[in-house]
Amino acid sequence: MMDDATKPPLSTNLADQLIVLSQNLWWSWNPQAQSVFAELSPYVWESTCHNPVAVLRSLSRQELEARLRDRDLAERVRAVVSEFHQYEQETETWAATHPNRPLPSIAYFSAEFGLHESLRVYSGGLGVLAGDHAKSASDLGLSFVGVSLFYRDGYFEQRLTPEGWQYELYVPHKVDDLPLQPIVDANGNRIIESVEIGHSTVSFTAWKLDVGRIQIYLLDTNIPENDQHFQKLSANVYGGDMDTRIGQEIVLGIGGVRLLRSLGIHPDVFHMNEGHSAFLVLELLREQLSNGVGFDAALDSVRSKCVFTTHTPVPAGHDRFSSELLAHSLGRFWRATGLSHDTLMGIGRVRPEDESEAFTMTVLALKMSKASNAVSELHGRTSREMWRSLYPDREPKDVPIGFVTNGVHTPSWATARAHEFWNKRLGFDWTAKLLDRDFWRRIEEDGLASDEELWAFRYTLRRELVEFVRKQIRRRYPGGEEGGFASLERVLSPDALTICFARRFATYKRAPLLFRHLDRVLPLFADPERPIQIVFAGKAHPRDHEGKRFLQHIVELSRHPQLFGRVVFVEEHNIAIGRALVSGADVWLNNPRRPLEASGTSGMKAVIHGGLNLSILDGWWREGYDGSNGWAIGEDNHFENDLDAQDEHDFEKLISILTEKVIPEFYERDESGIPRAWIKRIRHAMRTLLPEYNTERMVAEYVERSYRR
Ligand SMILES: *Cc1c(COP(=O)(O)O)cnc(C)c1O
Repeated sequence: MMDDATKPPLSTNLADQLIVLSQNLWWSWNPQAQSVFAELSPYVWESTCHNPVAVLRSLSRQELEARLRDRDLAERVRAVVSEFHQYEQETETWAATHPNRPLPSIAYFSAEFGLHESLRVYSGGLGVLAGDHAKSASDLGLSFVGVSLFYRDGYFEQRLTPEGWQYELYVPHKVDDLPLQPIVDANGNRIIESVEIGHSTVSFTAWKLDVGRIQIYLLDTNIPENDQHFQKLSANVYGGDMDTRIGQEIVLGIGGVRLLRSLGIHPDVFHMNEGHSAFLVLELLREQLSNGVGFDAALDSVRSKCVFTTHTPVPAGHDRFSSELLAHSLGRFWRATGLSHDTLMGIGRVRPEDESEAFTMTVLALKMSKASNAVSELHGRTSREMWRSLYPDREPKDVPIGFVTNGVHTPSWATARAHEFWNKRLGFDWTAKLLDRDFWRRIEEDGLASDEELWAFRYTLRRELVEFVRKQIRRRYPGGEEGGFASLERVLSPDALTICFARRFATYKRAPLLFRHLDRVLPLFADPERPIQIVFAGKAHPRDHEGKRFLQHIVELSRHPQLFGRVVFVEEHNIAIGRALVSGADVWLNNPRRPLEASGTSGMKAVIHGGLNLSILDGWWREGYDGSNGWAIGEDNHFENDLDAQDEHDFEKLISILTEKVIPEFYERDESGIPRAWIKRIRHAMRTLLPEYNTERMVAEYVERSYRR
């Protein structure tokens, strides 16, 4: 036993524990932890996108210790730290109590991870899905590591010219302010690995990111061993030209496997989240061949370890590399296997002999995986059609691509307000009951929150969104005049039916659809008794001119005299802004051109906040919609080729459901001012959707259908 004199004083201890806590992204789904960090420095918390490491670095040790002598604060820190330790040491997890334990160990490769707004190594839905997957793998207690790149300059921050045209700002991360641990060997030296790209040897190091009980490794080429050109290779998310693209994918796939090996990690399963990381199968193949395994046996062995998720429902969206680029970039690597360039091209082609065909990452991944899946049932069908030529002897329905419908990590998406509300009504352990369908019945059947309480909750969240948006605008236009926002009180009303639309401005998502015939929608916004309002956010890809035109159109609408303050565009869509919008929305609008929304996930994030989905029957909503838990725009089918007719049809359906169903139900109030039918719909949505559209259900399905296969 330590005697008291050698024990560090309690507050010192607590300060250290708080520092440890800041280094594990577990805090990103624990609002009590966040509130402690926010309280230590509200200013730094706000100005660093809610970054606990930056907050703690901004306090002297002296201040931190002094502040922790406040009993109340110390008590809350102790409670959070103890909850964290319990989480870390939990022995009764889903995986630990699974009838088929031990479950396989998994390495999950993804070009992006969206874990928190302070770590800008994601561009959109694909990354957010990967981040939510990793968090649920931790919650379920799986043996799991993630692999990605460390994008030092991150994804861009969005700014608009006065004309509403998007331009991009690249703001480098402050590495010291991130919860990244350098990967070092037993002697404390940084581990450096390398890959061959063209004639060069490109070195990289890695950072470890702790996410609850799992780790994500981020590969980084920005080290002095490389020349300037290659130092920049991993700087930007999907940065640059085809050379950069293939270079990044070589580092991610081949380099990722090499890093795991150098750490002594030998996963049972390699999961490729989209094709960007598919070069990993080549490294696994090389390992087998260099051990003297024959080619066919090596292929079988690699295939028995790999799992693939495809996300892209259009042929043009898949990564393709020409034979010349591949010969140049991968030539030196591939020659070491002793196999011919034609053999390499063959693995990445639908018809191996067809010299006109490029090398497709998706083909490589499909051919080399024991289980492949799309991200919703309809996307599964689309994918089987799209890749049927890979399996010429089979009917489309027998093409071996299944589906695992996406989900979201509900505790991360629930705002602090939502946590507080449900903690009181459902008990603090509701986040551990995400898979329990009977538990969620209570929202509909037990009346554990009254209609009045639920309506007050909706009002609070709507008010918070209104104020959040006003604050964003004031931050962008501090003078008050530049954006024409002289009186911020005219921006949004806390009483109006609030529709939100936030996602990438890819044109297939059709952000401006509602405004297709302006004269038809103006009255809905101008109605003094039953007004609607809509908040938009989203980034266009830097090279997507059409997407930028859509965005500019929305900005112009927001300045239209009859729409001013009722149609608002919020700049710089990120995880924090997304969270504000999914929590404040009464209605989450999703009107993609079917079947291009492979799954979509943003609408799932609205549900825990009592938001209702109004969506095309595409992706997840085609499965989630049951007739009374939200609304469908249009039918369970789509036109094959006539895009304009489809847009016209969907516009008509959208307008009619808004005017005939959504608006009347929202404004139909009883004598105490409560929209009973609306609240009933919210209850039903929560009960039917929450236990299904979360990443615990999704990752558990991956375990059963793919990893254990
Ligand atoms: C959830 C999320 C998305 C996904 O949007 P969908 O249109 O539903 O696919 C994109 N970006 C961010 C920042 C998100 O949080």
